[in-house]
Amino acid sequence: MNPSISKIIFILGIIFWLLIRIPYQQIQKQNTIVDDRKTVQGKVVRLVVLIGILFVPLIYFVTPWLNKANYGLPIWANGLGIATFALSLWLFWRSHHDLGRNWSSTLQIREGHTLTTNGVYQNIRHPMYASVLLLCIAQALLLPNWIAGLSGFIGFSIAYATRVDQEEQMLLNNFGDQYEAYRQRTKRLVPYLF
Ligand code: SAH
Repeated sequence: MNPSISKIIFILGIIFWLLIRIPYQQIQKQNTIVDDRKTVQGKVVRLVVLIGILFVPLIYFVTPWLNKANYGLPIWANGLGIATFALSLWLFWRSHHDLGRNWSSTLQIREGHTLTTNGVYQNIRHPMYASVLLLCIAQALLLPNWIAGLSGFIGFSIAYATRVDQEEQMLLNNFGDQYEAYRQRTKRLVPYLF
């Protein structure tokens, strides 16, 4: 596929990705928070994800600085990238939808927080993070550049490694045996596997 077309598809996907979150951000503002684990480290890590998914690709689109790291991709890789991006957007929307008012962009428990174990949370505990991982795979398949293609994956890996244990600990503190039982019967990112 023409690299310009795969770039446009990536940009459109990112616009959808940003739009999906807006209504949930409005809902989140109405929550009364009873357990807040927001940290400076958490903010830095979210910034690292945004740099990997938005900022580095932007540099690749508007400057020639990263061109030395370009490589070729077969047409099937672009097709797979589009399909992966579509799946990622669906899972991103669906996990926001299933969490509903329990969603927050940082690690928080709200007043009246309930444990979501249905919908896409039935078999995996972190479908939203799985959706971001899918987005990073799509990025590597759509942007044939060693830096701009892989920066999302690097940002995601740092964020996932520093956040997921803290999040599970917070949910364990708040939901006790209910969360432990949920943890026993589910995987983190890939149903039945991992
Ligand atoms: N890690 C999850 C959710 C990310 S949003 C995922 O990848 O899908 C982060 C917020 O979701 C956290 O502040 C936490 O309070 C909330 N959360 C995470 N898992 C939850 C669950 N199963 N039920 C209710 N709230 C949950």
